[in-house]
Amino acid sequence: MSRPAPVLAAAGDVPLATLPGIGPKVAERFAARGLTRIGDLWLHLPRQYEDRTRLTPLRALRSGVASQVEGEVVAVERGFRRRPMLRVAIDDGSGASLVLRFFHFRAAQVAQFAVGARVRVYGTPRPGQQGLEIVHPSYSVLDPAAPGSQNGDSLGDALDPVYPALEGIGPATLRRLIGQALDRLPGDDTLELLPAAALRAQQLPSLRDALLTVHRPPRDVDLGALLAGTHPAQRRLVLEEMLAHHLSLRRQRIALQAHRAPALRPGALVRRLRASLPFALTGAQQRVLDEIVRDLGRDAPMLRLVQGDVGSGKTVVAALAAMAAIDSGRQAALMAPTELLAEQHFNNLRGWLEPLGVRVAWLAGKVTGKARAATAAGIASGELPMVVGTHALMQQAVAFRDLALAIVDEQHRFGVHQRLALRDKGAEGGSVPHQLVMTATPIPRTLAMAAYADLDVSVIDELPPGRTPVQTVVLSAERRQALVERIRVACAQGRQAYWVCTLIDESDEVVAQAAQTTWELLSAALPELRVGFVHGRMKPAEKQAAMQAFKAGGLDLLVATTVIEVGVDVPNASLMIIENAERLGLAQLHQLRGRVGRGSAASSCVLLYQSPLSRTARERLDTMRTTSDGFVIAEKDLELRGPGELLGTRQTGLAEFRLADLARDADLLPLVHALGEDLLRTAPAQADRLVARWIGGAARYAAA
Ligand code: ADP
Ligand code: MG
Repeated sequence: MSRPAPVLAAAGDVPLATLPGIGPKVAERFAARGLTRIGDLWLHLPRQYEDRTRLTPLRALRSGVASQVEGEVVAVERGFRRRPMLRVAIDDGSGASLVLRFFHFRAAQVAQFAVGARVRVYGTPRPGQQGLEIVHPSYSVLDPAAPGSQNGDSLGDALDPVYPALEGIGPATLRRLIGQALDRLPGDDTLELLPAAALRAQQLPSLRDALLTVHRPPRDVDLGALLAGTHPAQRRLVLEEMLAHHLSLRRQRIALQAHRAPALRPGALVRRLRASLPFALTGAQQRVLDEIVRDLGRDAPMLRLVQGDVGSGKTVVAALAAMAAIDSGRQAALMAPTELLAEQHFNNLRGWLEPLGVRVAWLAGKVTGKARAATAAGIASGELPMVVGTHALMQQAVAFRDLALAIVDEQHRFGVHQRLALRDKGAEGGSVPHQLVMTATPIPRTLAMAAYADLDVSVIDELPPGRTPVQTVVLSAERRQALVERIRVACAQGRQAYWVCTLIDESDEVVAQAAQTTWELLSAALPELRVGFVHGRMKPAEKQAAMQAFKAGGLDLLVATTVIEVGVDVPNASLMIIENAERLGLAQLHQLRGRVGRGSAASSCVLLYQSPLSRTARERLDTMRTTSDGFVIAEKDLELRGPGELLGTRQTGLAEFRLADLARDADLLPLVHALGEDLLRTAPAQADRLVARWIGGAARYAAA
């Protein structure tokens, strides 16, 4: 029996090369950017619009405001001094002139700009040597003999779309081809994949209407909305795009859930570890542990993200989860992004577990030769049930006998690719390990919903009792001297301090040098203190030695680069100075500040800045001064920097949104989720088509 032809998908799935004027060369250029089908052109959406409905008098032009103008060429000048250049001055009699400047041009272009010719120009003026100028404007030369005729003399009907540039394809060609693709746009009966009722309820147009509106805005379009990206046509497309991404993550999740995982039962080890802790779990820790244990008890793999603010006590929750695996006769692994953090975990776990008779293996770069072979053998035989190491090492060829739980710590920027890599690791033998991911930096709820649709999320939203909030002060770098005195006094009272040197956009080496200089200065200024130094270019062993000395109280002051950023836990340290704080993002400042306030002593953090402060820098520092709630800070970060920066753009795939902007469109997320669940349940084939339409050939998830 033959399968029915996929009629529905046909219109958009037709290869681009079937459009007139696309030869193999051009088709190749499109393909290089992932555009192979006619439907891909429908979704190559305008970035901006040029308002060609009006002419602005030259006198009224403003720097930075894109405008359309018309005038007569009054002077033309070709220069060759350092590079070829063409300057064309135009005048419209309004009492001002404008310079058009070209650095690339052809002879034919020069000929067009004869003195006296009328030109219409669109572009963004900037201050030049003599008044405003536009570099490389789009323009047309008007035919004086035939006003209002075929030369496009009449004003445009509406807004001209500006498309994201594609290498090797001129904007005019691109616009023409998109126009041709749109001419083949089928009716909604074949095109529409969203339920009509949902669209009606949201007062959103059909896909066909939405596409036509954004590509060819009609005369009476709500211009402001369109320029802001909030027009219903755009919202409709955003909704569909976010839905496609959501579905693609959900499908991965479903694929993962089809695997088996060992069902784990907490037993004696979990009980004994709890009993041996010098503290009781907080309510939030207990709740999250319950959520994890419930997942582990199933024979489908857990994929859970634990979000918890700095110092909320994620490690002990992870350790208890690991004990459930070992109680069940299996192995657990804990990974950290750096050797420093991995070793800290190793020491913590050893302290907790060895008294219970559980051996903890240490997988580090410096473990080589026989020792390494012995560790590997112990992991392979299962004799070593608990393994701690860096992500890098764990992802190399480590053969576990029976890995049942993989814990990944401090993964602020945890990308889909890494999740898949880990999953593959355990996929031998038909059973995969449970996965627990712990993030250092809280992520705004909306963002988490979009980025982690394939994960379950738990939140430790409570700090252990007895912590006093860190007092944060913002101080000009000119007050450094007073600070040095403050450190002297604090350390004389037995407190410990960090001095963090930061230079953003500089190489490790430059930062290390700056930190070295600071270290020398502080050592000289504070001769009675023991001042240590740690930076990213040190050998791991040296770094370790400095950290251990600080932790053990052998150093009073630790000068450091941001290597101490995440995870480092020295409860006695209660003073932190961050230099050049204005250059750091909120998430990073929050992480750094989280290194103090971990004990019972009242702690403070001094944010040193170089004047003058930009407005956003001031806003960031103010946020840090006024709140210590990681979630509030994350929301602010989202507002100031956008989602890409927050998540680590390339890794998440969120940067690849064509139209959606998570900060602007977050309100659609609940609808995205509802529609997503609905489609997966009632029309999975439709869900597949949505994913193919938006993510299509570039589907990184296909193999999941
Ligand atoms: P984070 O969530 O930032 O990784 P850690 O796991 O490093 O936090 O915990 C921070 C500190 O708090 C550690 O010294 C840890 O032993 C301690 N701690 C964890 N849970 C509790 C608790 N319930 N009560 C008291 N102290 C706790
Ligand atoms: Mg931690």
